[in-house]
Amino acid sequence: MASSANQAPPLAGYNLFEADAPLREAVEREGGAWAQDMLRELGGLAGTEEAIAWGFQANENPPRLRTHDRFGNRIDEVDFHPAWHRLMEVAIGHGLHALPWREPRPGAHAARAAAFHVWSQVEGGHGCPVSMPYAAVPALRQQPELAAQWEPRLTSLDYDFGLRPASTKRGVLFGMAMTERQGGSDLRANTTRAEPIDGDGYLLTGHKWFCSAPMCDAFLVLAQAPGGLSCFLMPRVLEDGRRNEFHIQRLKDKLGNRSNASSEVEFDGAWAAMIGEEGRGIRTILEMVNHTRLDCVIGSASLMRQAVAQATHHTAHRKTFGRLLSEQPLMVNVLADLAVESEATTLLMMRIAGAFDRPTDPREAAFKRLALAVAKYWTCKRAIAAVAEALECLGGNGYVEESILPRLYREAPLNSIWEGSGNVNALDVLRAMDREPESLDAFRAEIAEGHGLDRRFDAALMQLDKMLDAPDITESNARVIVEKLAIAIQGSLLLRYGDPNIADAFCASRFNGAGRTFGTLGDGLRLSEIVERHRPSI
Ligand SMILES: Cc1cc2nc3c(=O)[nH]c(=O)nc-3n(C[C@H](O)[C@H](O)[C@H](O)COP(=O)(O)OP(=O)(O)OC[C@H]3O[C@@H](n4cnc5c(N)ncnc54)[C@H](O)[C@@H]3O)c2cc1C
Repeated sequence: MASSANQAPPLAGYNLFEADAPLREAVEREGGAWAQDMLRELGGLAGTEEAIAWGFQANENPPRLRTHDRFGNRIDEVDFHPAWHRLMEVAIGHGLHALPWREPRPGAHAARAAAFHVWSQVEGGHGCPVSMPYAAVPALRQQPELAAQWEPRLTSLDYDFGLRPASTKRGVLFGMAMTERQGGSDLRANTTRAEPIDGDGYLLTGHKWFCSAPMCDAFLVLAQAPGGLSCFLMPRVLEDGRRNEFHIQRLKDKLGNRSNASSEVEFDGAWAAMIGEEGRGIRTILEMVNHTRLDCVIGSASLMRQAVAQATHHTAHRKTFGRLLSEQPLMVNVLADLAVESEATTLLMMRIAGAFDRPTDPREAAFKRLALAVAKYWTCKRAIAAVAEALECLGGNGYVEESILPRLYREAPLNSIWEGSGNVNALDVLRAMDREPESLDAFRAEIAEGHGLDRRFDAALMQLDKMLDAPDITESNARVIVEKLAIAIQGSLLLRYGDPNIADAFCASRFNGAGRTFGTLGDGLRLSEIVERHRPSI
């Protein structure tokens, strides 16, 4: 074999959970310690060459649509590479789609968040049909007889692929179809019609412009019923074995997320059952969206973590100008800055996942309302920049597919687009502040818990208070406010729970307005120690 002089060894054969100190600490703090054995096992699997190869194979061999069989019958099926199915089997087998619903014990959402974080690092695309079943359950429970029928299979640990009547399957998956051609963010513009059939559900006619994972067994769909926009459960196969009138027009040719199929679909009198109240569809499906938004935060954190792991690993093996990159002061600064961002994101993600575990605590529920919108906006934006910078740490190798960084880079913007694009989330923050002031109170109370721990943080807090108390909060400056809220909550969490060197670097850099690129941390910080905390050792 040719020598690989001055090239890093592949980052494989390590445990992604064990190597992630901020994640391990947060799992304990948020009450998920009981899941550590599972997390350790999953972390080990995620680091194997075999699992890493599945991620590459599933993206190099994207799904293919088969609209018809050889006799000309419409079948609307999508074929996936076997690697996709292996990824799905592991995810479903570990309950990443259902842990809190199967084991409703304290810390279950936090444990599930950690597991999703670890396993998504192998491959991000299959996270979509893992996230949607997790998110569908709270919406489904608004129609108890449907929940009784579907939930046992929806939360099963069996990955049972293929279009068959649900009652004959060991496990089922759900997707969602909201977005239409004429409007995604503005769901009120939906035109798909739902006509009631006497005592037996509805027939839906219309289209959806985006419908991911169309091989799922059922979808939550928004459509206009006589009483207004309503939420429906639409199975792909009817109980008598016939295919529902759910037709896949084509698969989207996407920037990234290539292992996952995203389709355009048409409903031609497709049968569906209503969930929740007629005319209250947005409210019903928002139960689902709240959970998928959490997964966008987790997905962004996992992209950052994987990028930081790759960058810190590569630079510890690559020499330039006679020294390891990890010893070059300016590279150390870049790596440390990325590690700071990654840790701040992990802490925020786990804090919010913990709030999902405490829904009956009014302060936690109020905190979650605002924190989720803030975090969805901010962490998804930061992941894009962080992954790009980590990619550059590998030089030319980072631009080459085999390094995994191009895949992470293509995946990163997606979390910011779906489940409420950036502006929509930023405006949602303003809406929550205006209409649910208790959410802002809870959020501020949480930030204030960091008061007195760092003078730079305290000064920023004073400025934030002034800004929030001012009457001139406008739509146009929503992003400014959300950024300040995000940095304040991350600072507070880091000061209380993070590594002290990282909290110090965060306060020194994020509150003084300096440096808009990564690698602009000031002097006097313990940068090498920060990098070492985040470097996986193999
Ligand atoms: C790969 C992929 C998979 C997807 N899968 C699904 C799926 O399975 N099911 C599903 O239902 N949808 C899915 N979507 C659709 C996705 O949720 C929408 O694309 C998203 O919600 C944005 O809607 P839109 O594309 O109609 O953009 P628009 O609503 O037209 O928004 C365009 C831009 O304008 C901004 N904007 C909107 N309103 C305002 C405002 N008032 N002020 C300022 N700015 C504003 C938005 O933030 C956005 O940046 C998927 C999308 C992608 C890319």
